[in-house]
Amino acid sequence: MLLVSIKEEDDKRAAIVPKFVEKFKSLGIDVEIEKNIAEKINISDEEYIKAGALINKDKNDLLKKADILLKVTKPSIKEIKLLKKDAITISFLDPFFEEDLIEELLTHNITAFSMQLIPRTTIAQKMDALSSQANLAGYASIITGAKHLNRILPMMTTPAGTISPAKVFVIGAGVAGLQAIATARRLGAKVEAFDTRPIVEEQIKSLGAKFLKIDLGKTEEEKGGYAKELTKEQLELQKKAMIKAISSSDMVITTAQIFGKKAPLIISKDMIKDMTKGSVIIDMAITSGGNVEGSKADEIIDINGIKIIAPKNPTDDVAKDASFVYSSNLYSLVEHFFDKENKKTKINLEDEILKSSIVTYQGKIISPVLQKGKI
Ligand code: NAD
Repeated sequence: MLLVSIKEEDDKRAAIVPKFVEKFKSLGIDVEIEKNIAEKINISDEEYIKAGALINKDKNDLLKKADILLKVTKPSIKEIKLLKKDAITISFLDPFFEEDLIEELLTHNITAFSMQLIPRTTIAQKMDALSSQANLAGYASIITGAKHLNRILPMMTTPAGTISPAKVFVIGAGVAGLQAIATARRLGAKVEAFDTRPIVEEQIKSLGAKFLKIDLGKTEEEKGGYAKELTKEQLELQKKAMIKAISSSDMVITTAQIFGKKAPLIISKDMIKDMTKGSVIIDMAITSGGNVEGSKADEIIDINGIKIIAPKNPTDDVAKDASFVYSSNLYSLVEHFFDKENKKTKINLEDEILKSSIVTYQGKIISPVLQKGKI
């Protein structure tokens, strides 16, 4: 059984770090990786060799012989064409928006997992890569904001006078938002937050932040804790009610997402006109369309002195730790479907985790959320 991983083109992370090479080896799985796989996170090939991996500079050769391919981002159509029939790929596949890729996976009989589809259950927690990455992204959002803000976050009393704490407003308090709140609080900022799921009020307060109450009428949670999309009217109500919190903030972090759908546009240009010049908005939802009007991936947009920043890879600045936790998530998933006695993979479609996270298997779409009419 050969597990392979290749370099990411457009992401600093690596899907495997040396610690997990050792762990795969102890399961009885051989590991071969592309040369310089982790150069962007300063892990050398020697460290992988020491852990038991083989290094190969021929990516095509690696793809042709892989039984299991680990990646951070989705494999390309060209890469899929090189894989063996029945090979297994595990990555952030983005299956709701990748019809052509899914067609290719079906045609080639690939077993393709999508890390976005790991269920949010207690038993699957250690495989939950959305959470592990969102956690680090939430931290990174505040660090990025602080770097671009022209003020400090904490209150500071000095002989030259007292500086008041910066105000941070966090919109969306899921995994990334809660970590952003916690990080801003650790740095001494005054934090306010809003989410459409009323259940998070307590979590926000327990981090020492204020919860902005907005009466939107009924806002239910989907199964699994995901937010339900707001109606047009509710979104307008939300926008109106947030204007004051936005204009009085030095930093606004937006993390609002709807599972499997485009992110809601919740800050329009007219809502930021009263913010103080020098303030910063970090749009953390850019890969699913963005929460802020006018934000552009990896560009700093200046609107009347307000900077809007939308990192496409929000874990880039913390890519080493992000790789470590992602690699751990992938290991836990592979270990879950690996038959240790017979040293081979065993795909049991009755298993809740596999049924939910496998996009294609033996030429069929498996994950119930991808079945026709459910998206
Ligand atoms: P997400 O990335 O899908 O969305 C981020 C946040 O945006 C959510 O909190 C959502 O409610 C919020 N949001 C959506 N529309 C909004 C709007 N118009 N305005 C403001 N906020 C808006 O969320 P996530 O971080 O992936 O978490 C989703 C759910 O999964 C949560 O309930 C979380 O507690 C749950 N979860 C459970 C487990 C587990 O049980 N193992 C693990 C991780 C997350």
